[in-house]
Amino acid sequence: MTRVLVVEDNADSREILTFELEAEGYVVCAVGDGLRAVEAAVSFRPDVIVMDISLPTVDGLEATRRIKAEPGLASVPVLALTAHAMTEDEARFRAAGCDAYLAKPAAPEAVLHAIRQLLVPPTTSPTPSDA
Ligand code: MN
Repeated sequence: MTRVLVVEDNADSREILTFELEAEGYVVCAVGDGLRAVEAAVSFRPDVIVMDISLPTVDGLEATRRIKAEPGLASVPVLALTAHAMTEDEARFRAAGCDAYLAKPAAPEAVLHAIRQLLVPPTTSPTPSDA
């Protein structure tokens, strides 16, 4: 079962996204602030993280930095959800360790699609076939 950590401070958005993800068969842990996100990443061990950027305690960029610094969590993909989806911000998201981002409001289908993209195993270079 694929585990998704949802970090979103808006309760309605958090519940809708949790509902949609669970309906798709994902196991979801949902929290509402940046410090809880770091704690949950350590204890829940998600396969992918959906991270709001504007959050109480520490913002989504700082939470992502802290998560990526935890042993064993550096490779967990992070999908940032941001109201500030301007081109100049992408470098900041990438620098913090975010792997992809979506502008808010993001439809649940868009989030699901982005999650699937992030979970696709990296393509390996073709191996020579037997002659
Ligand atoms: Mn927010």
